Order: sequence, then C-alpha cells, then structure tokens
Amino acid sequence: MKAIIVGSIGLDTIETPFGIQKDILGGSAIHAALAASFFHRVGIIGVVGQDFTKEHFEFLESRQIDVSGIHRAVGETFKWSGFYEYDMNQAHTRETHLNVLGSFEGQVPESYRDAEFVFLANVDPDVQLTVLSKMRRPKFIASDTMNFWIGHKQEALWKVLQKVDFVLMNDAEIRELTKEASLPLAAKKLFSRGVANVIIKKGEHGALYFSPNDHFSAPSFPQDGLKDPTGAGDSFAGGFMGYLAYTGDLTPGNIRRAIIIGSVMASFNVEDFGCGRMRRLREDEIYRRFEDFRRFSEFEQIEPLVTTS
Ligand code: AMP
Repeated sequence: MKAIIVGSIGLDTIETPFGIQKDILGGSAIHAALAASFFHRVGIIGVVGQDFTKEHFEFLESRQIDVSGIHRAVGETFKWSGFYEYDMNQAHTRETHLNVLGSFEGQVPESYRDAEFVFLANVDPDVQLTVLSKMRRPKFIASDTMNFWIGHKQEALWKVLQKVDFVLMNDAEIRELTKEASLPLAAKKLFSRGVANVIIKKGEHGALYFSPNDHFSAPSFPQDGLKDPTGAGDSFAGGFMGYLAYTGDLTPGNIRRAIIIGSVMASFNVEDFGCGRMRRLREDEIYRRFEDFRRFSEFEQIEPLVTTS
C-alpha cells in the first residue's frame, strides 16, 4: 500500500439549513479516503463497531479503498452529531460518542508499513503518533487536527506537528493554537517551533499555504450549491495527498496544483450531505472544476505606473 490514512470512521447525524440526515457514513478518515481515491488507491486505518454495515464496506471497496486496516471492535461505531446555521464555516457539536474509537490504539497492518504517503487525519494525536512510529519509510506525511485536541492534548499535538511535512488546520484552529490573530504570523509561530509547512483552510474563503520561504493563496470557489460542509477539510486533505501520491511529484509547482485539487474536492464535498456527492462524482467534473479554479484566479500583469500631474 503506497498511501494510507488514519482517522475517525463514524456515523454522523447532521443538520443544516437544508435538511437533516441521521447516522450517515462519515468521519475524518472516510471523507479524506474518498477524496484521495479519485487519484490513488489508499488504505484506511481506523476502527468500527458491530453496527457498521456491510454496505459501508462494499461502498469503500467499490472506490478501490483498502479496508484491511479497519479494525472491527465489539461495541458501537464512533458517532458525532452537529448542526450548522447560515454561517457554515462554524460547526456546532451536539453530541460526540467515541464508542469503539475511545479505546483504539492505532493498529497498523504489516502491508501498510512501507507506505510512502501518510495522512494523519483528525483523531487523538497519541493515535497519530503511534501510527507514525510504525511507518518504515514515509516520503510525505501530512496531519490535520481539531479544536478538541488543541484544548485537551496540546503536548502530543505539538509532537505530531513537529514530525510531519505538512500541517493542515483551519483558520480558527491555528489562531487558537498560536494565540495570533494574523494568519501569516500564526504560521511563523509554527515555524519557530519546528513545523515545516502549513496549509490554512479558510472554509468557503479558500486556503493559504505558508512555508518559511514561500506563500501561495488558493482562491475560493463561488459555491452556490452548498448543503453540508461536514468533511470539507478532510476532502481537501485527501485530494491534496491523493494527487501527490498519484503524481509522485513533490516540487513546489506540483504542491500548488495539489492545493487546488484539495480545494476542488472540498468544493464538491459540500454539495450534498455526508459522502453523498462523492458517491456520484466523476473524474471529468474534477478536471473541469480545476480549470474553473484556474480561470477565476488568473490575471495579467500591469504596465509600470507613470504618475501624471
Ligand atoms: P470536518 O468537517 O472536516 O472538520 O470533519 C468532519 C468529520 O469529523 C465528521 O464526519 C465527524 O465524524 C468527524 N469528527 C467529529 N468530531 C470528531 C472527533 N472528536 N474526533 C475525530 N473525528 C471527529
């Protein structure tokens, strides 16, 4: 297995101004793996309970996702329920039931340990560290997190951030972690503590990439079909890593393309509840939306200004 993703696998109950859906397939690893699967085969590391149906496994396998790293435990699958108001950049959690995820340690099958591309999706940072410690020769590691771990497990989280090549976070999370209002200054604070590269996801407002000596700004997509933003960040990350694994190219120009691919996948994910849009997405739609992103952000040089009196 060349590319693997560890994260939560859940049954989500989601309410937005556009409707409510109960116990639908979700979790950070699922959203990320689905987005990645359009570019490269990926293996998932995670845990489910006895209520996780055969249909969910069949769907993942139909997308060429390897499920041999999904551990089946006695008990119920992780469950998250939340709602959004009209500002859909902000998720409000109603309930979180860790269930079998609460005692998951991050078991990695032997066939995953030589993976070159590793995405540590949002899950307990101690689980992220355990998985990472089992990998023999990763070439590219990225990680994501959420406010809960910033508040409850910051020490372990810093260890993760210092070990990975790319840290993905949303704007509210990086502000909370660094206590900085300015996003460029927040990125600099991460660099001063040994972080290599940062991608800041700004929901419907695009994404920013910072490295100690480079910066790139991915535009927002004028999305008029927004239904449910759950998993947008994970879809971004999955698309980003999946494209890098597919091309095998980690040069700066390709990193920029991969960031746009991430933005493309996130923009599709929000068009339906849960994984609904990914179930019917086609490769030609991805290609066309990438071109839209390029068109929206292309502009030409101006002539040097000559002041007239
Ligand atoms: P996102 O919208 O990208 O932040 O991620 C949404 C996914 O995160 C949902 O499908 C949830 O199942 C999952 N999630 C919510 N809370 C947690 C948690 N505490 N740990 C791991 N995953 C979570």
